[in-house]
Amino acid sequence: MEYSHVATQDSAVHAALVGEEQREAEGLELIPSENYVSYAVREALGSALTNKYAEGLPGKRYYGGQEFTDAVETLAIDRAKELFGCAFANVQPLSGAPANVAAYFALLEPGDTVLGMDLSHGGHLTHGHPLTSVTKVFNFVRYKMKDVETGEIDYDAMRAVAKHEKPKLILAGFSAYSRELDYEQFVSIGREVGAYVMADIAHIAGLIAGKVAQNPFDVGFDLMTTTTHKTLRGPRGGMILTRENEEIAHKINKAVFPGLQGGPHMNNIAGKAIAFGEALRPSFHIYAGQILKNAKAMEEVLHARGVRMIGGGTSNHLILADVFGSLGVSGKEAEQVLDEVGITVNKNVIADDVRKPLDPSGIRFGTPALTTRGFDERDCAQVATHMLDALEGKDDPAKKETIRAEVRALAQTHPVPEVFV
Ligand SMILES: *Cc1c(COP(=O)(O)O)cnc(C)c1O
Repeated sequence: MEYSHVATQDSAVHAALVGEEQREAEGLELIPSENYVSYAVREALGSALTNKYAEGLPGKRYYGGQEFTDAVETLAIDRAKELFGCAFANVQPLSGAPANVAAYFALLEPGDTVLGMDLSHGGHLTHGHPLTSVTKVFNFVRYKMKDVETGEIDYDAMRAVAKHEKPKLILAGFSAYSRELDYEQFVSIGREVGAYVMADIAHIAGLIAGKVAQNPFDVGFDLMTTTTHKTLRGPRGGMILTRENEEIAHKINKAVFPGLQGGPHMNNIAGKAIAFGEALRPSFHIYAGQILKNAKAMEEVLHARGVRMIGGGTSNHLILADVFGSLGVSGKEAEQVLDEVGITVNKNVIADDVRKPLDPSGIRFGTPALTTRGFDERDCAQVATHMLDALEGKDDPAKKETIRAEVRALAQTHPVPEVFV
């Protein structure tokens, strides 16, 4: 992308923009929460809409001059509803974390209990990590996997905790869990104890929109929150979806604004509208399916080379590998070694980790970004092989140099696309 005005006006920022552009082009991005947006989305992010205040909702704003903000927000809402098969969508949350905070405040009173996935078993920070502000207001209790080797959730224990703790909200969602959840179980437990049932689909929104993963609304979930920038491949942002309950939808709208946020970022909402339009095309179904096939291809290489994966493998786009247990390399060191050869992953705690969070046993990686670049199963198997070769050869600079060159060649043959067909 041209940054001609930045180049003339501010060389320091220009250097950073160009540097990042080059880093993204030359390396392989395997952080499962990252992706590349189309140039159409990038143009919307840099559009005149960033200048505009639009507090309120389409047709009900607090300031004048809303002809075009109403148009883009209505498009984003309508496309979101079509993508996820639901009656209401609020596309204003600035990101996934504020979407969750707004959902909690919409549905709960201070002191209420939320039942969510244990953080070391894959749950997200916003599901009640002690360092987050929401834990000062709400009480978070946990469910876990029954078997770390298969990833199966302990639904019996979950039901028992729910009966005992009487949560008002049950959360299905994760950022480091590689299997599909049994959504029917969540709904049945929720109905039994009178709790709302919410899915935080931040990581798998693209798989659901692409119809290669189950949609929690199909089995009766009350609401869903999501990011828009992970598998859904839109601009950085969040969104809250509700099925058909108008009362919940109204509470959500009020909790987002004025409850939590001020003016919506309309340039970003225009980007969401464009990305949702892309996700509605038949080709997005193929993209989503390829994400899964590519993750499976990586899983097979890890299996063949004896690397332990939490949950035993993957049913979504995400793999959590116990590199410390399998290769004697800590998560932090693995992240560094892979960085050196041009492969970006992130260190991650694994269930019942014997190591500390800042230098845990695992690495987490996934295929959404590579798949956007057109990588297929064979390419992804090659990437997995490079990863394991690099980790096993971490003390051999010549070997790492060879791998680095091969990674760069692979990246060059798969440029970051500007347009998605
Ligand atoms: C990424 C993620 C979030 C937070 O999204 P941000 O945009 O980083 O605020 C929330 N929930 C889950 C499950 C996530 O994976």
